Amino acid sequence: MATRTVRTVGDKVLLKKCREVTEMTPRISELIDDMFDTMYEHYGVGLAAPQVGVLKRIIVVDVGDDPHVLINPRIIEADGSQTGDEGCLSLPGKFGTVTRPMHVKVEGLDRDMKPVLLEGEGLLARDFCHEIDHLDGKIYTSLVEGGLRDASVENMQDDEDAAETVPDGEHGKNTDGSADPASADNGKNADGGNE
Ligand SMILES: [Zn+2]
Repeated sequence: MATRTVRTVGDKVLLKKCREVTEMTPRISELIDDMFDTMYEHYGVGLAAPQVGVLKRIIVVDVGDDPHVLINPRIIEADGSQTGDEGCLSLPGKFGTVTRPMHVKVEGLDRDMKPVLLEGEGLLARDFCHEIDHLDGKIYTSLVEGGLRDASVENMQDDEDAAETVPDGEHGKNTDGSADPASADNGKNADGGNE
């Protein structure tokens, strides 16, 4: 098990349509393990294979109830509607408002390549839709209402919860030399630095 590099927007792999998985192999099994590791490492609730550069129809999701892996997932039923904020590990530090179905039924295969039918309500429904879109090269930004917003201006550290709503912060970057000291309104000790 290991984490893999998350591809970010601008990487063409995110725009491609993924291929169906026809058989489970040790390599794909390892990919699934790595996808879970990668998702948890980044405090994500879902991840699709193209986000780690693999053009296969595989998603993992975990909204806090149970981890699920779905191979060749397909939404077979969708109803209701929810409008809320959504983010993506391939677009760190951003989020936007997206309307999704409130409830979906998804069929696919589990990691033993056995058919499964999963239902998602609320966040899980949103998650399934978001991840399955990735398999068709779609990124949620095409659905965002009102533009993307900054979740956090900088410091997207791995110990930070990226999903919180953070108001627009100071945009002053600590560039050496020419930095404008006027924006140092929160620096009480200029020589200490923040841990
Ligand atoms: Zn995403």
